[in-house]
Amino acid sequence: MDGALSIGGNKIALTSRDDGILLDFGVNMRRKRDYLLGYRALVIANKLYYYLYSEILPKIRGIYREDLVELDERAKTALEKADELRASTCIISHGHADHYGAAGFLSNNVAIAMSNSMKTIIESMIESSAALDIEVEIFQQKDRRRGEKLKRRFKGFEEETRIPDISFSVIPYPVDHSLPAAFGFLIEEASLAYTGDIRMHGLFKHLTKRFIEKVQGVEYLMIEGTRISSSIRVSEEEVSREIERFIEEKPGKLISIIVSPTDIDRLRDIFRISERLERKLVISPKIAYLIDKLASSETKITLPSMKNVFIYFERRSLKGDGYDLKSAHYRSWLKNVYLNRIDGKMEGELIKPDQISKDQGSYIFMMSGLDYILELAQIRPEPGSRVIVSTSEPHDEEQEIEWSRFERWIDLLRLDLRHVHSSGHADRESLLEIINGVNPKKLIPVHTVDHQEFERLRKAGDIRCDVIFPKIGEAIKL
Ligand SMILES: [Zn+2]
Repeated sequence: MDGALSIGGNKIALTSRDDGILLDFGVNMRRKRDYLLGYRALVIANKLYYYLYSEILPKIRGIYREDLVELDERAKTALEKADELRASTCIISHGHADHYGAAGFLSNNVAIAMSNSMKTIIESMIESSAALDIEVEIFQQKDRRRGEKLKRRFKGFEEETRIPDISFSVIPYPVDHSLPAAFGFLIEEASLAYTGDIRMHGLFKHLTKRFIEKVQGVEYLMIEGTRISSSIRVSEEEVSREIERFIEEKPGKLISIIVSPTDIDRLRDIFRISERLERKLVISPKIAYLIDKLASSETKITLPSMKNVFIYFERRSLKGDGYDLKSAHYRSWLKNVYLNRIDGKMEGELIKPDQISKDQGSYIFMMSGLDYILELAQIRPEPGSRVIVSTSEPHDEEQEIEWSRFERWIDLLRLDLRHVHSSGHADRESLLEIINGVNPKKLIPVHTVDHQEFERLRKAGDIRCDVIFPKIGEAIKL
């Protein structure tokens, strides 16, 4: 349905005569940015209609929320002539919004299947972000006709175990990606393997290798091809060494580092580096909240210890010296992170910007996004202090605008900027290793904008099987 010629926005339907399943139902970020014009398109009364019109969401009948379709005769009309799809379950590969972020539009009759850790990660990110109504109603919906809360059927799956009571036999296998609880799948009756997002250069490359072994010889391999035209491979180990060097080069100066909060393996590594270099670690509350939530679940993910860690106390109220937790500007998740420390219920100590300011060379400040640079303006690092960005580079205009604003703050604050990152996606050589390792009869590339490169590699003999290029809205008969 989508994700055929774009990076992200994967929406794959697999149907038999009686029923179907969906593999991922992500936001096509590119298309969304291309067509969203101001707040107007986000008004809840018009959202579904605009999304369908501009094909941010595919025009398919039978899968969208009954309440929204029923209340909006324009959306109803737009869907009337569309192809119908029956799908009882949507299986999510991992907790990145380009794979799950449109699931809030799905009918409540569509169950969601994912691992329990993945669910915790997604819930945590939803709660601690600027929430968008329908988009975040994945596990629970508010029926807009009567206002009642509807719980969606949830199927938690375990690695290497068939997902229970769904209409296909699907086995999830964990794979290496830039966040934990990422899965590839084997759909047995279709003899189809789907990689989700995958790489071979992270700390869990052995998982990808195991996935390759397990799905070897399938008829069809549906593979992500984000980086099919690049052979650059920066490993997580290299990132770790670089970060350590960047810190060591600045004795006596504050080090700030920007990471993606869900990249827990990298977080854990920075916790370790800070210990080794005897610097105190300060983390953003968003990161603390995710770790708290995972720690209280039964996750198998190895979490960093919060002992001896500081949690950055954001100044958010006008009264009470700026830290009045009764203020509505502390949303409930944030308030809980802080209260649990004030009451001594959880490990980690709160720290205010002034305290960091006084002893800058003792700290590493771990921030959860580019916008956190504004908090640095409160800490006022000494000129020449270092900021390390350890997330992916901007890859569209909107992110470039955000990046240039970030850089302006870097210059204004007289900071020394470094960038080091390891992609969550396999490079060309790794993709070929996966393809040739699995050795399918046919290859179906998704999550890529470069069909030509796949075709070129096939002609050159690097890809030794047929390649089927999917088209949006066109079925492939297996
Ligand atoms: Zn991803």
